[in-house]
Amino acid sequence: MTDVLQEFKQSGALLEGHFVLSSGLHSPRYLQCALALQYPADAARYGHAIAEKYLDEGVETVASPAIGGLVIGYATAASMNVRFIWTERQNGEMTLRRGFKLREGERILVVEDVITTGGSTRECIAAISGNGGKVVAASSIIDRSNGIADVGVPRFSLVSLDVPSYEPDVCPMCAQGIEAIKPGSRTVSSV
Ligand SMILES: [Zn+2]
Repeated sequence: MTDVLQEFKQSGALLEGHFVLSSGLHSPRYLQCALALQYPADAARYGHAIAEKYLDEGVETVASPAIGGLVIGYATAASMNVRFIWTERQNGEMTLRRGFKLREGERILVVEDVITTGGSTRECIAAISGNGGKVVAASSIIDRSNGIADVGVPRFSLVSLDVPSYEPDVCPMCAQGIEAIKPGSRTVSSV
């Protein structure tokens, strides 16, 4: 799926320019995966592309961390014709709720939309493992870590995307006098 990034640009899920991220850091790229998953046919294609990698892994269940992983996780599970469950934060801790039960040793594929540091995937894996599941692999549409994120199980992403970020005082776009935009609002930063 080499055209994933092109599709992300077309849907507005990947913006290029000069952005203020929610962290306050500046970046020439901004990613909002939800926009690439608005149409079920697109989500189904990405899910199918992930599922194809795991046909021989004996995956019994796909699990995703809410909210970001829900759409792509469901699409992947639908392609594999296995069940889909999710973990979610309760008082800040990723937990398995809603009556979802795992069999001891049940083979689980964890799926997310974007892996940045791998934090939410690792937390999802811990919640699944803590309930008896055996996480055999983790996957995402986008890898923003340059392949570095280590989640403790084999990992695969459809595409790798470098999203550099800078403190505002060393931002090269700021140095060029380019206006910084805060995605999701119409606010234009004064820096
Ligand atoms: Zn900047």
